[in-house]
Amino acid sequence: MKFAICNLGCKVNNYESNWYAQQLSLKYEEVDFKEIADVYIINSCTVTNMAGSKTRQMFHQAKKRNPKACIVCVSCYSQMEYLSKPELFDDCDIVIGSTHKKELPICVDKWFENKQRIVLVEEFEKTNFEEMELKTFNQTRAYLKIQDGCNQFCSYCTIPLARGRERCLSGDRIIQYGKNLVASGHQEIVLTGIHTGRWHDENGNLTALIKRMLNEIEGLKRIRLSSIEMTEVSDELIALMSQDERVASHLHIPLQTGTDRLLKLNNRPYTTEQYYQKIQKIRSLIPDISISSDVIAGLPTESSQEAKATEEFIEKCELSFLHVFPYAKKEHTKDAEMKQQVDEQEKKHRVSCLTNLSSSLYNRYASKFVGQKLQVLFETKQDNVNRGHCSQYIVTEVISEKDLSHQLLEVVVDEVKDNTLIAHLV
Ligand code: SF4
Repeated sequence: MKFAICNLGCKVNNYESNWYAQQLSLKYEEVDFKEIADVYIINSCTVTNMAGSKTRQMFHQAKKRNPKACIVCVSCYSQMEYLSKPELFDDCDIVIGSTHKKELPICVDKWFENKQRIVLVEEFEKTNFEEMELKTFNQTRAYLKIQDGCNQFCSYCTIPLARGRERCLSGDRIIQYGKNLVASGHQEIVLTGIHTGRWHDENGNLTALIKRMLNEIEGLKRIRLSSIEMTEVSDELIALMSQDERVASHLHIPLQTGTDRLLKLNNRPYTTEQYYQKIQKIRSLIPDISISSDVIAGLPTESSQEAKATEEFIEKCELSFLHVFPYAKKEHTKDAEMKQQVDEQEKKHRVSCLTNLSSSLYNRYASKFVGQKLQVLFETKQDNVNRGHCSQYIVTEVISEKDLSHQLLEVVVDEVKDNTLIAHLV
């Protein structure tokens, strides 16, 4: 029997997809989603309207590929849509929301026994952290999910509804999972969560956890934070990052909008001045750090002057790159109720201005490294091009007949080409 997984959405879903694959591989063979399989798993996302329609497209593609296959939809899209619109899931044999994910492998077995539809979607706010122990990961940089859920309720976001309230994996388990990953050859671990900066257990906060991982996981060469809110970048975290080069020199700090009025309206707990001061502080200790951000174009009521002000603020912050999202109206959020929505054409224009800005920021930032030495963890090799990421999370390439994959090596940067650092080995 064969299974295939289509992963949509964030790094947390990606971690969970790795876990489903690990569990199902004990009995079944994994194949690409484009191939004929007996079980198709769509690990769904709802963060944008596009992600929702992509999820439904995947149901149809799977059904067409093998009408007799078991089709499973799990995670955020099921959680947000199943209870109010079950008809959207007519093609699915198993529907699992944001709880009971660990039961997915058992549900697949049960379905093959009796072909009875299984639905595990329930309304919930609080739930326990579902421990999913990973032994290995399907890419060089291994993600480790340490936290789930969010209590922030930003006005545009459904994640607190889709994933429930904050919960954390204990430090002891993180050490254990980290050791597994290093033992299977991973040198870099990316700490992942929905609101990662809020991680804590009875022994301490995120910085204490990173220190513990560096001390206790032998062979771990690099730890990276996937994303962290501005309010959670503490002085002790900055100090640790400046002192220990095993902590990657990159922070992705979501800004979302660059005006105080829209930050407040969207329940973001900081002002532009506080954001600016924070990055100044980080740079005073780690001058070459990469600070990237998320930004939403066309939030309800955003005027064209505010869109311009956001661009100017981002320029002033000298961010290294942006993830730009067009605002998408989501049911059950405060923003969706607002009458003053930005016209779609105008939204596209703002997205393209921000995307162009991101490209020029990236080029400017990457150019700083020409002539410098960097540590690169190589991930893939294709046609003699070895590709990986440096500590600052810039894609770096080295031409070599040797396969450098999965090695952390020192390089010297020769030039920047097509948003990539071209380098040679030291
Ligand atoms: S912090 Fe805001 S944007 Fe991030 S997951 Fe929570 S509610 Fe959503």
